[in-house]
Amino acid sequence: MTEPCSDAFVFFGASGDLAFKKIFPALYAMTRRGHLDMPVIGVANSPLTVEQFRARARDSLNQHGGKLEEAVVGQLLERLRYVRGDYTDAATYDTIKRELQGACRPTHYLAIPPSLFGIVVDGLGRSRCADGARLVVEKPFGRDLQSARELNRTLHGVFDEKAIFRIDHYLGKESVQNLFMFRFANTFLEPIWNAHYIESVQITMAESFGVEGRGKFYEEAGAIRDVIQNHMMQVVGFLAMEPPVGTRAEAIRDEQVKVFRAIRPLSPESLVRGQFVGYRDEPGVASDSTVETYAAVRLYVDSWRWDGVPFFIRAGKCMPMSTTEVLVSLKRPPLRRMGPEETNHLRFRLSPDVTIALGARIKKTGEHMVSEPTELKVVHQADGEEMDAYERLLGDAMEGDPTLFSRQDGVEAAWAIVDPILGNATPVHDYDPGTWGPPDAARLTADVGGWHVPPT
Ligand code: NDP
Repeated sequence: MTEPCSDAFVFFGASGDLAFKKIFPALYAMTRRGHLDMPVIGVANSPLTVEQFRARARDSLNQHGGKLEEAVVGQLLERLRYVRGDYTDAATYDTIKRELQGACRPTHYLAIPPSLFGIVVDGLGRSRCADGARLVVEKPFGRDLQSARELNRTLHGVFDEKAIFRIDHYLGKESVQNLFMFRFANTFLEPIWNAHYIESVQITMAESFGVEGRGKFYEEAGAIRDVIQNHMMQVVGFLAMEPPVGTRAEAIRDEQVKVFRAIRPLSPESLVRGQFVGYRDEPGVASDSTVETYAAVRLYVDSWRWDGVPFFIRAGKCMPMSTTEVLVSLKRPPLRRMGPEETNHLRFRLSPDVTIALGARIKKTGEHMVSEPTELKVVHQADGEEMDAYERLLGDAMEGDPTLFSRQDGVEAAWAIVDPILGNATPVHDYDPGTWGPPDAARLTADVGGWHVPPT
């Protein structure tokens, strides 16, 4: 059943960094496609007039909006309104209510520091701005299992679960959705997609840059909270899930949650943490910080399909390149003479480009019957018409489609996996910027031939 579309978009954090980098460009793209036919009300504390707010939006588009069509920019700016107010002040919500001008199904988007989520939700509830409304919540959703449960309780005090859309922008990425499509739209994959044929699965999320001035934020997060508990688990979910019963939102989310529940909670032995040399000199970072800028884990999905297959995740900053890649290694064929130690594989590059590659062995030209590795590869060339994750997700939330958002049970199950390894569960090892992290991480993958190095 199609849900009715929202009739107003209220976004908290309208003067913030995320709004500037991502949200205005997403709203522009939606306007250009004719997907944003409603007033947009920005709410923040900065003393801006509506003209100044529009000028900020234009600045954001100039810097992050790509090639702009002036008529579309004008259309978006025209839709923008601004409410200046403190989120702790009840009067702010009365002003929002007035600005809503009778809209009966607004979407409220919280692009604000997580410490304010509860305060804003209470304000929306008390002022009746929450009536008939949807709520979009930015990440991070909690700091651990307990705080995620508490936050869920707070949100449920005002909004029904079906009106809550928890953002994990990874779910909105074209390349991540392609994992789902590739798995379930191709019959040839299913017979081999299990412990009988797959030896291991590796996911690497490498960033060639550091914390880029966001040291204060990163001190509260670290690699496990920032990307492993959420983005990387979503990728594991798509790789490991059972076929959903149809493509309804809940059918897909049910299967994802089943995967998270089947993953054994991580133990300190299955974790290696690292910190790049120089991190402690970053602004906002403690001089004795033990926050990890790199984490590698070995995990198991305790299901019939994946029994005994190790999944590896490593995520780090200041790595030799920026890329996110999945390598699914198949077991070696029994006839060893045909191929030495190297096995077949499937390789999915999720960024910066989208690549699907099948690693095969073929006969090496010449007299002898020996093989060499090759890859059959498809690289998707961006044509500029792709939807950015935020455009897709905000559009879906306004239309009430929850497929690409984390559900309460999914978020809690993902926290339960990493809960035992949060904080200083293991020592943090130094690594030099431009390397693949601390050498100690090699022990995690020693029995599967080491870490996969994504090709440049
Ligand atoms: P910023 O600190 O840049 O922005 C915070 C926003 O909240 C500002 O608009 C600020 O208004 C407003 N605000 C804060 N306190 C109050 C208050 N008491 N009353 C009214 N307004 C207030 O944060 P970000 O944009 O960086 O992040 C926002 C959210 O998005 C966070 O949950 C973050 O984790 C998430 N996120 C951010 C990413 C990024 O790249 N920045 C990436 C992914 C997620 P004002 O400045 O006008 O006072």
